[in-house]
Amino acid sequence: MTHPLPHSTRAGVYERACAVMPGGVNSPVRAFGAVGGNPPVVEAASGSIVRDVDGREWIDYISSWGAVILGHADPGVVAAVQEATARGTSFGLLTEAEVALAELVVDMVPSLDMVRWVSSGTEATMSALRLARAATGRDHVIKFSGCYHGHADSFLVAAGSGAATHGTPDSPGVPDALAGLTLLARYNDLNSVALAFEAEPIAAVIVEPVAGNMGCVPPETGFLEGLREMCTEHGSILIFDEVMTGFRLAPGGAQELFGVLPDLTTLGKVIGHGVPAAAYGGRADLMSLVSPAGSVYQAGTLAGNPLAVAAGLCTLQRLAAEPEIYDEIERHSARLEDGLSDAIVALDIPARVQRVGSMWTVFMSDMPVREFADTDAADLDAFARFFTAAYEDGVLLPPSAFETAFTTSAHEDDTVEHTIDVLTRALDRAWT
Ligand SMILES: *Cc1c(COP(=O)(O)O)cnc(C)c1O
Repeated sequence: MTHPLPHSTRAGVYERACAVMPGGVNSPVRAFGAVGGNPPVVEAASGSIVRDVDGREWIDYISSWGAVILGHADPGVVAAVQEATARGTSFGLLTEAEVALAELVVDMVPSLDMVRWVSSGTEATMSALRLARAATGRDHVIKFSGCYHGHADSFLVAAGSGAATHGTPDSPGVPDALAGLTLLARYNDLNSVALAFEAEPIAAVIVEPVAGNMGCVPPETGFLEGLREMCTEHGSILIFDEVMTGFRLAPGGAQELFGVLPDLTTLGKVIGHGVPAAAYGGRADLMSLVSPAGSVYQAGTLAGNPLAVAAGLCTLQRLAAEPEIYDEIERHSARLEDGLSDAIVALDIPARVQRVGSMWTVFMSDMPVREFADTDAADLDAFARFFTAAYEDGVLLPPSAFETAFTTSAHEDDTVEHTIDVLTRALDRAWT
């Protein structure tokens, strides 16, 4: 028996989805729980436009959570993947293309000598942490509240109560013993990091060099430099989780933009332009500890998959050869920030735009968001009204008050101007 894909309505598909997949989705945020729980069911997307099974269209700022920096169904990426597909979808053996992509990545990202291909950001951070623990012979790791590093047990950790910074499980199923090895610090607060360093011998500090998973929160001057100094002083590994920022903020990611070099870097999202690919990498002495060169075990049946590598090669070659793409995306993102900030002032509402390059968030708060605790001040109901008004008017924002929107090279002048009009009306409707 075959399962045809009839021309189902959105509601019909979602109902079927809920019967066979937990919550009807394969990643929680897709359920749109924070904004009313009526998720769209996508049929196709092209450039900056995404279309659902009912034929509704939106200007998309989710952009596959940042992966598709060249826009949806970019003709070059599509052709590269089609061509690779015809040669075989996977071999589980070494290919030249994955070497070429590794060479390109090592060329583009300042701190990398070597990389290892994996298939998701979660795998990349989990593996980088294992390597850091092996290299230092220590078990504890410092992470920042509000930063997301995928769903490995060591990172699904919340701040414990009281003065203790030792983490507690943030999900059932995460062992206390493992969560306790993760110490929570506050983003943009070097004192909290110093306290954690005093508490335990630290294998690694892992950080989003621009936080994107509590909304867009830029690092303040000196924060990344301070982490670099503390890690060097304590013989700890500094891990920049650039799964979101890599190849997005600059050809060499946030480490190029801010001029601070980590020991290990994790990459994902843009690196496969929507086809599952990710990587971790760093200095040769560290990466040489990874099996089979060294003894730190880590493997993957589909790692360096030819379809993902083809998409990645096509994307990164374009970004490396045409750095003006970044200037254009910056111009459009700055215009969005200016237009929305002007609207917020004109409407006299408690909201603010925070942005680094093509990553931006409209926070429903007039207080700067410098760290996770600051997100408490945001008005979640106002955000839901803002999101819904924009959605009804044809602009798809990330469906949560604390996610980052992503501009791509497919968002052009007229798209951006139209977005500003729509979002200005949505802000007005959210507050009146
Ligand atoms: C998306 C993301 C991850 C997780 O990547 P997956 O591919 O979803 O596993 C890890 N770190 C950061 C900073 C991310 O934005």
